[in-house]
Amino acid sequence: MTGGRDETRLIRAGMRSHGRLAKTVGPPIQKGSTVLLPDAASLYDERQTTYGRGGLAAQNALMDALAELEGAQAVRLFPSGLAAVTGALLAVLKAGDEVLVTDTAYKPTRRFCDNVLTRYGVQVRYFEPRTAPDALPWSAATRLVMLESPGSLTFEMHDVRAVAAAARARGALTLIDNTWGAGLLFKPLAHGVDISVQALTKYVGGHSDVFMGSAAASDPALCSALDHAIWDFGWAVAPEDAYQMLRGLRTLPTRMARHGASSLIVAEWLSRQPQVLQVLHPALPGAPDHELWKRDYSGAAGLFGVVLQPVAEARVHALLDALKLFGLGFSWGGFESLALDCDHQLVHRRFRKAYDGPVLRLNIGLEDPGDLIEDLSRGLGALAG
Ligand SMILES: *Cc1c(COP(=O)(O)O)cnc(C)c1O
Repeated sequence: MTGGRDETRLIRAGMRSHGRLAKTVGPPIQKGSTVLLPDAASLYDERQTTYGRGGLAAQNALMDALAELEGAQAVRLFPSGLAAVTGALLAVLKAGDEVLVTDTAYKPTRRFCDNVLTRYGVQVRYFEPRTAPDALPWSAATRLVMLESPGSLTFEMHDVRAVAAAARARGALTLIDNTWGAGLLFKPLAHGVDISVQALTKYVGGHSDVFMGSAAASDPALCSALDHAIWDFGWAVAPEDAYQMLRGLRTLPTRMARHGASSLIVAEWLSRQPQVLQVLHPALPGAPDHELWKRDYSGAAGLFGVVLQPVAEARVHALLDALKLFGLGFSWGGFESLALDCDHQLVHRRFRKAYDGPVLRLNIGLEDPGDLIEDLSRGLGALAG
């Protein structure tokens, strides 16, 4: 350490151990806006990391791991799942373009399309999720098709491979929100999708306590477009959060197997209850789009919908309020079971289906499925009032 006064010495004190990190199982949580460069020639060398916003050790480890999971050339991180969706859209769309958006998109995705994309001169057209690919509202300006499979709240599946091929034939891109598949149960890029987005907040995080999103791509021009979006808009994620996500990734397949198996036990039980009209779980035999799920997915997630026999909203609230193990709340993919009613969100749809009864959404957590069934049985009992 150089001599001099305390004020100067303290600025550099303790830095000698940098670069001599003990090897741990997880990456170092490296914090930094400034990155110190070895020499003047490096300052403007674009091949080097010259600033912390693009990510340091923990973020890089997470991006590499997610690229392996998604079978992608590159994965980029965003501060939330919604930011990954909007960031990917902004990365590829420009004024004058048209985007075709599934009517079952996550509601905040829809809000962004309606409020922001249209303001910047992008035309947004919604389509019913089961529309045959050739019958989508294509035009010469169609730049992108935005899919979400299964769709939010009502779990319609797309024939992703067919839509991606139809888009490609017309010179358009496809983007999918694959949060339900978590990059594990379904591999969008292998089915011809150009950009695969997921809210890591859900299954990858797995504990309902960290926000983050990812966008995966393999085409070099798209990887570069995502990079530009990240830099131009100024997004960054914290190393602590990236570390937590990487930790979640280690147990993702193990948790997912349990979420999937339990959700099918609960879904199958629900489908036999007299108060239930229909179960909206593509992995349940006989449920809508089960054949597409079987063709494309390697497993089931823990989130699905339930259509009840027609009852007044007050009775639906009585059901929800009677639950003791299911928390009432938004988000999903965590270790704890959650329930909510969906009708308030479904009214925004353009091609709203008549379900003949109130729609609930259940997130099946890691609890014992028999206990969850007991809880739901109590809830269904409260329906009658
Ligand atoms: C929750 C969710 C998102 C957004 O994730 P956040 O991290 O909460 O912003 C995006 N898509 C789907 C399908 C979701 O369920």
